[in-house]
Amino acid sequence: MVDKNDIIYRKPSWLQRNVKFMYIAALLVTLPSWLWISWITLNEQAHKDLNQKVYDDLSLFADSLNSELEKYRFIPKVLMLDASLVAQVSNPSLATAGSQPNQHLQHIRQATNADEVFVINATGTTIDSTNLDNVGNRYEDSPFYSSAKAGGSGGFFTLGLYAGIRGYYFSEPLFEPETDEVVGVIVVKVNMARLERNWLNKATPMLITDEYGVVIASSIPSWLFTTRSPLTEIQKQHIRASSKYPMVSFPLLQTQVHKNTPYGQIVSLPKAGFKRVLEVTKRMPELNWTIYGQGDLVAAKKSVYQGVAISSLLWALLLSLAYVVTQRRLQLLETLDRREVNQNRLQQAKDQLETRVAERTKALQQSNQELKQTQQELIHSAKLAALGQLATSVTHEINQPLTAIMASADNAEQWLARSQPEKAQEKLVQIKHLAHKMGLITAHLKTFGRKTDDKTEWVCPQTALDNALSLLQPRISQEGVETILEDMSCIQVMANDVRLEQVFINLLTNALDAMHKSPRKLLRIYFQRNSPNKLKKATIYVTDTGSGIDSEHLQHLFDPFFSTKDVGVGLGLGLTISYSIIKTMGGELSAENSAEGAVFAIQLQARNRH
Ligand code: ADP
Repeated sequence: MVDKNDIIYRKPSWLQRNVKFMYIAALLVTLPSWLWISWITLNEQAHKDLNQKVYDDLSLFADSLNSELEKYRFIPKVLMLDASLVAQVSNPSLATAGSQPNQHLQHIRQATNADEVFVINATGTTIDSTNLDNVGNRYEDSPFYSSAKAGGSGGFFTLGLYAGIRGYYFSEPLFEPETDEVVGVIVVKVNMARLERNWLNKATPMLITDEYGVVIASSIPSWLFTTRSPLTEIQKQHIRASSKYPMVSFPLLQTQVHKNTPYGQIVSLPKAGFKRVLEVTKRMPELNWTIYGQGDLVAAKKSVYQGVAISSLLWALLLSLAYVVTQRRLQLLETLDRREVNQNRLQQAKDQLETRVAERTKALQQSNQELKQTQQELIHSAKLAALGQLATSVTHEINQPLTAIMASADNAEQWLARSQPEKAQEKLVQIKHLAHKMGLITAHLKTFGRKTDDKTEWVCPQTALDNALSLLQPRISQEGVETILEDMSCIQVMANDVRLEQVFINLLTNALDAMHKSPRKLLRIYFQRNSPNKLKKATIYVTDTGSGIDSEHLQHLFDPFFSTKDVGVGLGLGLTISYSIIKTMGGELSAENSAEGAVFAIQLQARNRH
């Protein structure tokens, strides 16, 4: 048999042995790299998105600022054609400046929503204004005046000389129609604070610097008129020459630049604890300004952290999934492998078993054959043994007629000598009769002694019984055994008659042996019909009034060599062989005790004799 422990399975592959280790190694090696790559990628993407958002806000603001300023740019262009204003600057006596502002200018200011509209004469003095405080102020150094005085259009941001208010000034020259000479300048001022109002509430903090880097607008008022970088001497000279601002030195806005990225600078500004922000710039070339917008990096970082956490988790999950799938696959392969090995072993075991069964069957058939032969020999030997036993009584039986024959022969001789042939004839008939009797005795011995096969056929049991009885008759008579026999000529049993006779001889001999010392010697043989399971059967009983069978001997009765008889008298094979003979005929042989002695029952397949 194949012991389960004997099975040697294929060694697990390197991958099968190390899949767990590989998973942990992959996790340990790739996870930090994955974290790093995710961080770089998502951070870059966050910067890009933030840049886009801030730039969009800046563009929106720049567009609205431009369109707002554009609205005011045309007012002086229209007013320069106003003849009354030209007349006013040409003729100083017409100047209405006094306690009441010029109604005409006031009307225009209100209609256009400008902060102030004023007129400067050829010497640079304000002669009329919607703001009476400004009348008489001098602007000969102001850039918007100089530019218009030179015949050009002007649009300038300055810090007001007198009121100190940041404003954008649009100016146009007033021409004397006849001489085409510039006699004055018309100025429209827009307060910078009004323009800023639009973006002060915006989420993105912004500031605007002019061409020198001076902060001219900011959502944080304290940053106004600071610079993003220190001014050079040339820049300072320019500012002084342009009279843009009353001062020439500006404090530096404390800015820490941390990093330059393709999407803007990462800086810390003196606001809310120098938080890091992404600073995005946009040029406004028409005004020569730069707008700075600041994107909140903390909020952006938060989403980067979240993104990195989620992506790392996904990566770990992906690796785990790959691990689980690989492990399952490897397990499956191992199972298939084991199944194949098991199947092979099973097939081998089956083949071995089949070979062994075939060998055993052959050996069994051979020993069966030998057994059968031995059995046959044994039966024959037992028969010869019985024959030997019978010989004594037969000799005794033959002796008697033999003596009688010899006496009769003597008598016949004497009768012939006395010439009485009739009497001699009588003796010869007696001799013939006695010889016939002897012949009968020896004929049975001859039949009984011959070897026979084990073929069965329908035979009358009475014949076998008669033969057996006639062989044992001398002993029966000698021992004074009474016999009661039921006639069985009416039935036939399925048997081999010679063998059946052998069984009867065995049973009768045993019965005679058992009754040897009994005071009453009765041998009774009878039969009963019984038909269990459709097959008709008959049981022939052989009973005696002998010693009976000890209860502890009953179960060993049919064992080979079981005998209670003296050594040399009993072989202990008689019942064993009888049992085997009856079995071969498809019958049963059993024994039990009756009140008087033993009862042996032979059950055989039977039918009525036709
Ligand atoms: P053997 O006659 O050589 O002893 P058997 O097999 O014929 O061998 O008988 C076995 C034993 O069975 C006998 O020794 C005897 O003890 C017992 N036996 C057989 N027939 C009878 C009987 N009719 N009455 C009592 N005992 C019997």
